[in-house]
Amino acid sequence: MKQSFYDLNYSDLETVINQNNLNHSAAAVLFNWHYKKKESAQCVDKIAKCSVAFFENNFDFSLPEIDTVHESKNDRTVKFLFKLKDDHKIETVLIPFHNKYSICLSSQVGCAMNCSFCFTGKQGLKRNLTTSEIVGQFIQAWRWLATNRPGEERILNIVFMGQGEPLHNFDAVKKACEIFLSKHGTSIGVQKITISTAGYIPGLKRWSQEIPGVNLALSLHSPFEEKRNELIPINKKYPLGVCPT
Ligand code: SF4
Repeated sequence: MKQSFYDLNYSDLETVINQNNLNHSAAAVLFNWHYKKKESAQCVDKIAKCSVAFFENNFDFSLPEIDTVHESKNDRTVKFLFKLKDDHKIETVLIPFHNKYSICLSSQVGCAMNCSFCFTGKQGLKRNLTTSEIVGQFIQAWRWLATNRPGEERILNIVFMGQGEPLHNFDAVKKACEIFLSKHGTSIGVQKITISTAGYIPGLKRWSQEIPGVNLALSLHSPFEEKRNELIPINKKYPLGVCPT
């Protein structure tokens, strides 16, 4: 099976290009084409034919398919259900503000945290999303806006608040953040990305060291330890008093 192009951050892409003796300028061209312009066709612009052939032969450029779309008539919120290659489905939401959008991304199929108030938690964790499935939600939602609400394809904030505990799928979420932040692509500001967590301490430690600057939102639900244990069972293992240093 071919590797997804959308699993590569910029430095991974540079490594692939160097290892295969392709022209090093292809990295910036490809990131610009796929993430800034968000083109769906193959990039043939300002790139050598051998590089085009190499990427066509060795990488998969498919993205999660839009299964259903629900548009709210009241507030113009758009809810997408995406179908993944293994038929699992995940939800993504576009939330409008002043003709711009925030996007709420999923990071896992299901969730292991089992919060008592959450339907996703009741399903248990099915699997982690790959980086390509995370950035794919963003690209597909952007393309949907370009087609259905032309002129409004401006997604300025990214929040990891959909299905899953993002810090429990740290590697894929971190790489997705690196792709969103890359100046060669979407170039989203670091302060415009927020990771929401139920308090998964191993991921919190990595966040503070590996993607500093990306915002963190802790879902508190209750300041009282006992109540929090009831609502968010992970709190029994990782109580709020444990400091992520
Ligand atoms: S961490 Fe989020 S997705 Fe997971 S069970 Fe809790 S509320 Fe649901």
